[in-house]
Amino acid sequence: MRGCYRVGGRSARRCFGGNPSAPIDNWQGAARRAFSWEAARAQLHGLPGGGLNIAFEAVDRHAAGPLRDRTALRFVSATAPPLDLSYGELARRTSRFANVLRGLGVGRGDRLFVLAGRIPELYVAVLGALKNGTVVTPLFSAFGPEPIATRINIGEGSVLVTTDALYERKLAKVRDAMPSLKHVLLVAEEGGATGIPGTLDLAALMAAASDEARVEPTMPEDPSLLHFTSGTTGTPKGAIHVHGAVVTHHATGRYALDLHSEDRYWCTADPGWVTGTSYGIIAPLLHGVTSLVDREEFDAQRWYRLLAEERISVWYTAPTAIRMLMKSGAEVARAHAYPELRFIASVGEPLNPEAVWWGKEVLGLPIHDNWWQTETGGIMIANTPAFDIKPGSMGRPLPGIDAFVVEHLEVEGEPPKVRVIDEPGVEGELALRAGWPSMFRGYLNNEVRYRKSFDGELYLSGDLVSRDADGYYWFVGRADDVIKSAGHLIGPFEVESVLMEHPAVAEAGVIGKPDPTVGEVVKAFVSLKTGHAESEALRKDILGHARKRLGAAVAPKEIAFLPVLPRTRSGKIMRRLLKARELGLPEGDTSTLEAGS
Ligand code: ATP
Ligand code: MG
Repeated sequence: MRGCYRVGGRSARRCFGGNPSAPIDNWQGAARRAFSWEAARAQLHGLPGGGLNIAFEAVDRHAAGPLRDRTALRFVSATAPPLDLSYGELARRTSRFANVLRGLGVGRGDRLFVLAGRIPELYVAVLGALKNGTVVTPLFSAFGPEPIATRINIGEGSVLVTTDALYERKLAKVRDAMPSLKHVLLVAEEGGATGIPGTLDLAALMAAASDEARVEPTMPEDPSLLHFTSGTTGTPKGAIHVHGAVVTHHATGRYALDLHSEDRYWCTADPGWVTGTSYGIIAPLLHGVTSLVDREEFDAQRWYRLLAEERISVWYTAPTAIRMLMKSGAEVARAHAYPELRFIASVGEPLNPEAVWWGKEVLGLPIHDNWWQTETGGIMIANTPAFDIKPGSMGRPLPGIDAFVVEHLEVEGEPPKVRVIDEPGVEGELALRAGWPSMFRGYLNNEVRYRKSFDGELYLSGDLVSRDADGYYWFVGRADDVIKSAGHLIGPFEVESVLMEHPAVAEAGVIGKPDPTVGEVVKAFVSLKTGHAESEALRKDILGHARKRLGAAVAPKEIAFLPVLPRTRSGKIMRRLLKARELGLPEGDTSTLEAGS
């Protein structure tokens, strides 16, 4: 094994991966210089009469060519036989859906929400709406009535696609509280007709619609998706995206995920989270791959079986899922072999070095961490197949992306400004040069917050990082989560990664707890792996391990055991909730909190 490993660190210690003779700087070199967004745009077709449309590039372009009969989406569930939709069939169904919308007078720029599990109709509705120029928002089906109604109201949704069961359980009572909603299209969960007053039966409308539709001639700046952020640090924000984002989806699908049309790909994210849309729907289809959609919730045995039996070659998942797999033990993984698997990537939270090693040990491949946000619309920084992984690092900026580490300058009487830090190894906020195609174009109804995210041409991400001398970026923490203790700035990620090295620890979340002497002390919350029970001796052992690895100033002063840590539906540990609960403060917006966490 080669590569470099220092927990949460910025210098190398243990190494593995990649081609030992590859120049470390190859990404910043010729490939990067040769890249331009214009050239990336030229890889796509564009609409026959001009314009750019995500669904045309993802579906119709392939349906009209040699990939017509290839499986585009393969749906699997525990109860029903698998359903394969070819690119040709997906083109027909999405055209039907576009025609259904046209028949209802729903057009370009109108807003459509989808609230459903990962059923075929969700995917058809999202792509069909895009074909029609209608702006789409997929929501997590597990949301309660309140978060659903709030988002539909903020987004002034005029159409909702959902199932009869979800409608009756969650929406019937709040329907009157959503005045913008003109049409509710229902999918019958048990088959047959829905027949609920005030709603329309989607299957009947689809059956009556033509399966040929003109793709709306959207332009790159036309809105395509409205996606809400995860709500990890506060109330979720609605990020507006445009059709031109498809250029980033396509380029990053190749550079960061290494997608090729012969791949069998599985993105485990739900489309209610931006990852499940950009990389669970759009990017794989752009590359003509067969994309697996598992309709069930997480189950370690099932997931390993799917990886093996579905012969997945490229797998995109998240640290929370990896931690759950780690928690269930390596034996479960050894029930299968994974000879087809050739690339694994992860996003959403920092990927602890332990998890990268675990991938290598259990699945035979290290895991490639990458970084992006709802706002960036696509992957920005990644450990890619083109260069060595540094476990614990997010990787390097993709071609076309200029990243910076910046510090904030507070000059009295002047508006706040940032300064770019050139020296490696210094912590600061991660900033990106604005202008990549999938950059968000606004926060819905929140122009002030949007403007605050920029200083001149720099987009400010709100995440703290440092860059090492090789150009790799290392996550330190959310600006909101960083702990200030006795003059030290402590990134939660570094402490959590060390805690995760302890054989009994499955997950860790750390917070700063106010302290009269040092400002804040580090308090850690951990959940344990199967087969370990909490005890005073174990607590001391974990504390001792952390102190040895981090030193007394940075190591947690306290450790509390929790059965699971609170997390968002997209799988992110909600440190703000750990803190609010610890301090007895109001919990704030918990609309995205995963039930039971
Ligand atoms: P909100 O903005 O509502 O608080 P959120 O930021 O969690 O929620 P997302 O847009 O889903 O919503 O998540 C983006 C954030 O996730 C990033 O800003 C970063 O903090 C974190 N993140 C994503 N990928 C990584 C990664 N590879 N390493 C570390 N952090 C990551
Ligand atoms: Mg955010």
